[in-house]
Amino acid sequence: MTTHKITLIPGDGIGPEVSGAVVKIVETAGAATRVKFEWHTHNAGAEAFEKTGEYIPKALYESIEATRVALKGPVTTPVGGGFTSINVTLRQKFELFANFRPVKSLPGLKTKYPDIDLIIVRENMEDLYAGLEHVVVPGVVQALKIITEKGSTRIAQFAFDYARKHGRRKVHSIHKANIMKLSDGLFLRCCRAVAEGFPEILYAEHIVDNACMQLVMNPYQYDILLTENLYGDIISDLCSAFVGGLGLVPGANLGTECAIFEAVHGSAPDIAGKNLANPTALLQSAVLMLHHINEGPTAEKIQTALEQVYREGKTLTKDVGGTSGTKEFADAVIAAMG
Ligand code: ATP
Ligand code: MG
Repeated sequence: MTTHKITLIPGDGIGPEVSGAVVKIVETAGAATRVKFEWHTHNAGAEAFEKTGEYIPKALYESIEATRVALKGPVTTPVGGGFTSINVTLRQKFELFANFRPVKSLPGLKTKYPDIDLIIVRENMEDLYAGLEHVVVPGVVQALKIITEKGSTRIAQFAFDYARKHGRRKVHSIHKANIMKLSDGLFLRCCRAVAEGFPEILYAEHIVDNACMQLVMNPYQYDILLTENLYGDIISDLCSAFVGGLGLVPGANLGTECAIFEAVHGSAPDIAGKNLANPTALLQSAVLMLHHINEGPTAEKIQTALEQVYREGKTLTKDVGGTSGTKEFADAVIAAMG
């Protein structure tokens, strides 16, 4: 019996509901495959601030430094003021430079675009997300877009390495280098240089606005979308719609030391506390996490049960056309594990 120490950040909004459901499913799958989990729970954000006086408590940092793996629910970022995004701060602190987001159709779920299998590889530390903004004179604000050769090269390297390792055929860089000639120009130059080392993988470039149209017209022309931070954020929400929405798409924030697994969606305050949230996105993030810690059989057990529940279509949450709640859905996944 192996025991894994995992940092758990429940989050806020729908965070506690979806992470509660996911922990229950992961525990059950673990018990069936002889894997144990020791959850080190620490919250972040407004709630943590009230309790500890810190938005990201020292104990949370120390926990991730020790476990090197975290499963994270969404944490609300205040709009237009207030504290800096917790998500962005954690990504910076642990140098989680790659945001890996597979967008894959689930069986049985009717959408306008069947059989989608896309991967978004988003640079996770630079771009306008460096958070460097200042007032130049009253009424004029400057935000700095940071793009570096190092950051662009390593995210491109990540995308191509993944493509080679997993037999993917194409990488598209998404950019706006016609307008941002220096910054996006540098990003593209780095991507092209990396692409040269991967002659078996098709490499192409699309301007971001055109890419949005192309995606909606024909998403099947894409395979891996390689993007800077901001374009990756926007394109992720867009692509989530192909497979049934934000309730489904998982993500991994990967660095060289640690990894944080979290859904693409945010804290969805409109549906928080109502047993309405779909835990699938965080559950599939947990599946990515289980593969990351080399617990393939536990991951497969969950994925198979999840797909069975979707294929049967009887116990789905509202966002994907069902009538069940978060808890009932989680129980159905557990039941499907037999
Ligand atoms: P962020 O800025 O953190 O990315 P966002 O503005 O993109 O957040 P979300 O919190 O991701 O917004 O949610 C957008 C909408 O999508 C929500 O209002 C909700 O209706 C829906 N949604 C998001 N996650 C889920 C989920 N897990 N289950 C069901 N619906 C969801
Ligand atoms: Mg969003």
